[in-house]
Amino acid sequence: MSLVNTKEILLDAHAECYAVGAFNISNMETAQAIIEGAIELNSPVIIEVSESAIKYMGMNVACGMVRALVKDISIPVALHLDHGRNWEVISRAIDSGFTSVMIDASDKPFAENVEITKKVVEKAHQMGVSVEAEIGRLPGSEDDVNVEEREAFLVNPNDAQKFVEMTGIDFLAPAIGTSHGAFKFKGDSTLDYDRLREVKEKTDIPLVLHGASSVRDTLIEEAERYGLQLKGAKGLDDNSLKQAIRDGINKVNTDTDIRIAFTTAVRRVLHNDSTVFDPRKLLGPAREYMKNVVKERIEILGSENRA
Ligand SMILES: [Zn+2]
Repeated sequence: MSLVNTKEILLDAHAECYAVGAFNISNMETAQAIIEGAIELNSPVIIEVSESAIKYMGMNVACGMVRALVKDISIPVALHLDHGRNWEVISRAIDSGFTSVMIDASDKPFAENVEITKKVVEKAHQMGVSVEAEIGRLPGSEDDVNVEEREAFLVNPNDAQKFVEMTGIDFLAPAIGTSHGAFKFKGDSTLDYDRLREVKEKTDIPLVLHGASSVRDTLIEEAERYGLQLKGAKGLDDNSLKQAIRDGINKVNTDTDIRIAFTTAVRRVLHNDSTVFDPRKLLGPAREYMKNVVKERIEILGSENRA
């Protein structure tokens, strides 16, 4: 099967109230792990490439590799540009065969965000490519945000409605309290579900949750056994994620969990066998471990047997 339109995948999820996993790749092994995991669970899946991953792999390698991997399979796979900020990269991604792009101008004032997003929608829609945009802001792991400041980062539902009407985007990432990286929460996971429900009601399009990795304790403990230092790491727990899906999330982004799984498996091999120097003996087990994380996520999101 060739790559499919992301909007098609997400409109079914929107209609049937489940979410599809969007997983970031950084090399061939991550892409294979994601696609094989989705095949085993008969689930649609979205492969995400960030601007920095494109810089690392090259646009042609990213596109060519994913297209080759999906050629002889029957589940729907979409290829998505994650957090596009640079017009030149976004434009090249559209021309190179991505089936959706994200334009992230969420750090700009509302009017400017609308203007930039509209420009991307115009080009993308001409090519049958769907568009994700973000309003509100997700703090990164470098931002230390206290509770009062947090409010200013979250999406305003009326703005979300206006934004969708003015830009014609296909799916929206509203900031509702998650953050990127391995250190998402200081205490319990706190998402603003009321705000999420209001955004869903006012926009009535598929919604996206960024910064949604689980950063599971068991995984961190194992990683730390082999020397990784991630003290205080904390992700989004399964119940909070499931609640967010019930309240309108249809695309769930996962990057950190895959990165931790990758490094844990590589560390385990190196720790257990000091004679290994064949890259395939490091990357093979890492691919297997990442695939397990992908499958675990798909089961939580409810996209199993939706292919
Ligand atoms: Zn993100």
